[in-house]
Order: sequence, then C-alpha cells, then structure tokens
Amino acid sequence: MAQVFNFSSGPAMLPADVLQLAQQELCDWQGLGTSVMEISHRGKEFIQVAETAEKDFRDLLNIPSNYKVLFCHGGGRGQFAGVPLNLLGDKTTADYVDAGYWAESAVKEAVKYCSPNVIDAKTIVDGKRAVKPMRDWQLSDNAAYLHYCPNETIDGIAINEMPNFGKDVVVAADFSSSILSSPIDISRFGVIYAGAQKNIGPAGLTLVIVREDLLGKAHKMCPSILDYTVLNDNDSMFNTPPTFAWYLSGLVFKWLKEQGGVAAMDRINQQKAELLYGTIDNSDFYRNDVATANRSRMNVPFQLADSALDKLFLEESFAAGLHALKGHRVVGGMRASIYNAMPLAGVQALTDFMKEFERRHG
Ligand code: PMP
Repeated sequence: MAQVFNFSSGPAMLPADVLQLAQQELCDWQGLGTSVMEISHRGKEFIQVAETAEKDFRDLLNIPSNYKVLFCHGGGRGQFAGVPLNLLGDKTTADYVDAGYWAESAVKEAVKYCSPNVIDAKTIVDGKRAVKPMRDWQLSDNAAYLHYCPNETIDGIAINEMPNFGKDVVVAADFSSSILSSPIDISRFGVIYAGAQKNIGPAGLTLVIVREDLLGKAHKMCPSILDYTVLNDNDSMFNTPPTFAWYLSGLVFKWLKEQGGVAAMDRINQQKAELLYGTIDNSDFYRNDVATANRSRMNVPFQLADSALDKLFLEESFAAGLHALKGHRVVGGMRASIYNAMPLAGVQALTDFMKEFERRHG
C-alpha cells in the first residue's frame, strides 16, 4: 500500500515507530506472555510504565517540582467541568477568554458551576480573524481563575503569548491540541490540561498539570474521579486508569526524546507550518483567513476559492494517500492537522498535491 499521511484533527496520527514497537510487543509484553492491556494497574510492571511515562513527560516539558501531573479520564470536556470544580473554592466567578469554538464550549460547561465573566477576545486585523493581545483582556477583580485555550483546533487560531498577569491570577489553559509542540513556561500557569488524542497518544487519557498549592479546594460535589486532590493522593489510580493509552503515550514520550525533545519539535513544526501557509498564501486558489500572528501551527484550515471543487479535492487527495482533510462541519472547507507525529515529508506531499490540483483545476 502507498504511504498514507493522516491529517486527522484527533484521534490523530501517531509516530510509525511507536506503532511498530507497540505491535511487536502487543501479545507478549516484557516476556509476560500477555499484553500490557491485560495486567493489573497496581502490579510492579505497570507501575514502572506509569512512573517512567510521568518522568519523561516532566522532562519534556521541564515541569517544576511544585507541579503535579495527573493521568485522568474524561478528555478535554471532562476538564471543562474539572477546572471549575477544583479551582472555584468559595468564589462564584471566573474569567473565560473566548477566542474560538473550544473556549466557548468550556464556558457552556462552566455556567453549571459559576457565573463566568466571558472576555470576547475575537477581533479582526487587516480583514483576517485574530485574537486581542493579552494586555487588552479585561480581567474581573473577583475571579477564581482565568481560563483560555491557546490553540483552537477547529478555528485554526493560536494565542502564542505566554500569560503574565501576576502571581495572584491563576491561569487554567486547555492545551489539548498544542501540548508538546513547543516549549511552555509552566510556571505561568495554575492548571494545564490536554486530551491525549492529538499530540500525546490514543484517546482515553487526559493529562493535567496542576500547581500543588491549588490542591485541596475541590467542591464537595466534585466527582472523585475529577478531583485533583483525590487523583494526586492515589497516584492517578483512584479508579482504573486507561492503561493502554498511558503505556502508548509513554512510548510517544520516549520517541519525542529521541527526536530531540520539544525544542526539536518546535523547529520542525515551524518548518511544516511555513511550508503549508506559504503554499496557501502564494496562490489565489487557496486561502486561509486567520491573521498571521494568530495562525495555528497545529491545525491549518483552508478554503478553495471555488467550493464546488471541495468534493473533488477530498476524493483526489484521499486517493493520493492524504487522508482526513475535510474541514470541521462548523467551518467547512479543508483542515490539515499537522501535530508532532506528522513528518515534514507529509506536509511536502500535501503541498505538492495542492499545487498539482491547482494546476489542473485552477
Ligand atoms: N479542547 C480542545 C482544544 C479540543 O480540540 C478538543 C477536542 N477536539 C476538546 C477540548 C474536547 O476534547 P475531548 O473530546 O477529549 O473531550
């Protein structure tokens, strides 16, 4: 079969080396005669997997020792509830910055637990969609925390500034679609969370990084499996964790280290994004309507000038081994998700195809 490059937004492509290793050891893991899926999460073999994965993840993101890493269930949406339930304390409001679909979805969940102060950060710069700079975000005085999403997976919008609101503002951020793609100054955040299925590993695992002084404040109605303190006290094994996803994510962390870590990913991601946006910008056949400063390097939505060609573009790209380029249903057009596992060769194949398609149909 010809090589396939999978541009899915998530669950997304995983590194081929990781999948091959998982395949090799699937039925007989570490000589046990069973797979890693079939052993107790409390046995010494799995504990070793769990601890190594956490250590590698900490190394990759340079996570300071006063932060806990929790391996949870529930995905990004689980944390839309987890964040207010753990951070509100006796406060009744929190600041929610709205720059796209996922930030808005977090607000819809938060209204169950508080009265969010929604900060509309959407703006237009030179006719293109953009996000207001952080200095223009009007924070309220009585907010328990500030929530934002640095990479809007559907809109293809990124907020690249690092928060700097002073030590009294607890920042909670949804890094579901950008974690591990570039370095993060963790100390600027109170809570960072990410569903695994884009840049970490398979769906089913969610990672939470939480500053330890924020523990112990969960609402009494907070389900135990979302309670950061309960999870931390039980080494993320209060209930049975998604063991296979945890193991496979651990393999991805090892692979990332072999590639040169997050700094190396940052460089490659920059090259991939420049190649793809360059191809779009150098043509009247394709367009992207996000302002340069806010363009996502992970999710690149683009439209064909003639949307009547969308169907043909999708059929022909699929036949050429370029899969899952259909844009999200709320946006339409195309979207190429180019997370860490997507090699430069995949983006090269996509841009070659785009130029060829334009030549034939432009
Ligand atoms: N936040 C972001 C930025 C996302 O991209 C997604 C999923 N695409 C979610 C949250 C929701 O994640 P989940 O489906 O894991 O709940």
